[in-house]
Amino acid sequence: MKYNIAVLPGDGIGPEICAGALKVLKKTGEKFGHEFSFTELPIGGAAIDAYGTPLPDFTVEGCLASDSVLLGAVGGYKWDKLPGDSRPEKGLLGIRKAMGLYSNIRPAKLWKSLAAASPLKSELVKDGIEIIIVRELIGGIYFGERGRGEENGFEYAWDTEKYSVPEIERIARIACELAMKRGKKLVSVDKANVLESSRLWRRTMHEYAAKHYPEVQVTDVLVDNMAMQIVKNPAQFDVVVTSNIFGDILSDEAAQVTGSIGMLASSSLGDGTRGLYEPIHGSAPDIAGQDVANPIATILAAAMMLRDSFSLSAEYGAIVAAIEKVLDEGYRTADIYSEGCKKVGCREMAQLICDRI
Ligand code: NAD
Repeated sequence: MKYNIAVLPGDGIGPEICAGALKVLKKTGEKFGHEFSFTELPIGGAAIDAYGTPLPDFTVEGCLASDSVLLGAVGGYKWDKLPGDSRPEKGLLGIRKAMGLYSNIRPAKLWKSLAAASPLKSELVKDGIEIIIVRELIGGIYFGERGRGEENGFEYAWDTEKYSVPEIERIARIACELAMKRGKKLVSVDKANVLESSRLWRRTMHEYAAKHYPEVQVTDVLVDNMAMQIVKNPAQFDVVVTSNIFGDILSDEAAQVTGSIGMLASSSLGDGTRGLYEPIHGSAPDIAGQDVANPIATILAAAMMLRDSFSLSAEYGAIVAAIEKVLDEGYRTADIYSEGCKKVGCREMAQLICDRI
């Protein structure tokens, strides 16, 4: 089979980590008899410098014409002073919106061989953990009405959290599908004791799951309790679904529990099979161009693309097994290095993974 992949390297370490992931994809293609073709397109600061906008129209068109999209990261010191609408990060929000990607799936996986990297006590994480957070991505307070004004001589500002039943149902579908492929257990996180929008979220989640996925057992957890449970007993969770703002915060907390931001990938999906796959970390301008970045998050993002957009589960498994093997053999990039391990750079780490596929 032939697959056309749009590649958006972006800024900072983006080009280095993407190069590693493409190398692994090529090797996987050779091994399993697929042809992956790559179209590189500009986004973020690199696009601002070359085209005066963080998201040129032809980048959007290229992504929409592809079978799926791999992204590095955007942003950097150079563009930090630009106004909100012309910043590199605007390119990211724009491409998610243009591709109609309303769900963000972030597996926070702690690999057994990296258990020592977790800030949690070893008895809590000794068997590894994998919490998959499904976050609603293009609704809620980040996209709701907002404004500023003046009242009684004081300046004020406001934002709105608003969800409709179809918005909740479509994210419920993605979460239930995932739960069906795993333990058939779904935790839905909200703040229904206070927020009206959360009460609608909770009711809709249960009604939708009961009607379309009766085998999935839905449990509700309040967001404040969830924040505690992630550090108290993270192994109790499997698939978790929540709103845009809660997901933003909780997925960073879950990522931290795994110990390394350089190991975690995410995917954003909409109605079709085309998705946007990326590492969860940023462009790490502090280490850009030094060949020290960890490419594993981006390699995992590419592997998720094979599984979730192209239904190539064996190929996904081969990449994950290769990563596991490299880690078990003691190879580490600087961010996950501990004494007694073999320190390697970005390029070498990608090559080691390739060699084990
Ligand atoms: P960051 O994730 O880029 O870096 C945080 C820390 O983690 C840094 O010390 C960095 O060196 C380290 N790090 C990150 N990825 C790593 C990797 N693969 N290997 C080894 N170390 C790694 O977050 P930040 O410093 O807050 O942001 C830097 C820039 O990235 C900002 O401009 C920010 O807006 C942008 N950003 C972009 C995205 C994205 O493109 N999705 C996400 C977050 C931040």
